[in-house]
Amino acid sequence: MRHLIREVYSEGGYVFATKAADIARSAGYENPAKLASNENPYPPSPLAIKKANAALEGCNRYPDEKMRELKDALVRRHGDYTFVTGVGMDGVIETTLRALIDPGDRVSVSVPTFSFYGLAVKAQGGESVGIGREDDFTVDPGLFIRKSEGCKVSFLCTPNNPSGTVTPPETVEEILEGIDGLLFLDNAYVDFCDTDYRYLMKKYDNLIIGMTMSKAYGLAGMRVGYAFIPEWFEEYYNRAQTPFVINSVSAAAATGALEDPAYIEGYVSSVKMWQKRFETESKFNSVPGGANFVMFDVSPYKGDEMVEMLAGKGVVVRSCTSFPGLGDNYIRVSIGKDWECERFLEVFNSL
Ligand SMILES: *Cc1c(COP(=O)(O)O)cnc(C)c1O
Repeated sequence: MRHLIREVYSEGGYVFATKAADIARSAGYENPAKLASNENPYPPSPLAIKKANAALEGCNRYPDEKMRELKDALVRRHGDYTFVTGVGMDGVIETTLRALIDPGDRVSVSVPTFSFYGLAVKAQGGESVGIGREDDFTVDPGLFIRKSEGCKVSFLCTPNNPSGTVTPPETVEEILEGIDGLLFLDNAYVDFCDTDYRYLMKKYDNLIIGMTMSKAYGLAGMRVGYAFIPEWFEEYYNRAQTPFVINSVSAAAATGALEDPAYIEGYVSSVKMWQKRFETESKFNSVPGGANFVMFDVSPYKGDEMVEMLAGKGVVVRSCTSFPGLGDNYIRVSIGKDWECERFLEVFNSL
């Protein structure tokens, strides 16, 4: 019956970083340093857990389809913007593309970056066009604009996964002025840098800023994302979205976490401290970044080879070979708990 499958799903798919964890386990590390997925290593705010537990009691009912409590919490957290929500930012990306992309439509993507944009474009029958970065991973706005000609949507991730590179808001403005479609600015890691792009929402009606509760807020398992969108887009987004897509427990957890932003301050400052230590204390070159991970050039080793060596010593990190548009010599290391970061530096420098 396999002939029934659409060609886009006959092979490929998202690459999960599970192999390194298996290697660490077979090397006898029951509890390796888990530095592959950019998660917050600590449990979420107690307020998130309390609200999620309360919501569980009422889960015989469908969730509020308007997500009013979550959206009110977003307004209290960020101010008066238009928000949409989704099952992770991945869900927001999917729904956005579902509203916009017909088969054959073009979407541009600044690479190397997160691979899900390309997969989600393909799922709609669209075609993605990669826009390369400079050797230091900065974005050339002129090239970005040229390559985005005729594209309905363009994706730019800042701080970028996997390079960590922060694109200045002035560059983003230049792009917004120059393209004819929408710009989806992925801010999954914005809490770890000192750049704020939100003011751009007030100036441009072709900007979407994607956000997630999975990284700084420690709710990766809950699957909640949201976006700042231009007001005109709201009704179309809502039409394209699967009904009741965010479950009430996840929505309540996200609401609680957003109401307790002070809870993550300690984690965010520990990330900033380790960003510096990774950059200065490692014997391999890293890319200056503003995320809760650091990308290293491990030449002359291959990324895959380095990941296996580290896994054999109980440190699980991610090879960057599956990121489109990047060479074979990079790894991405999340900033975890202090002992995990110490262990990584020690093993990495001993190779
Ligand atoms: C983790 C991540 C996301 C989405 O995460 P969700 O868990 O789906 O909210 C989006 N973009 C980038 C760049 C990411 O790294």
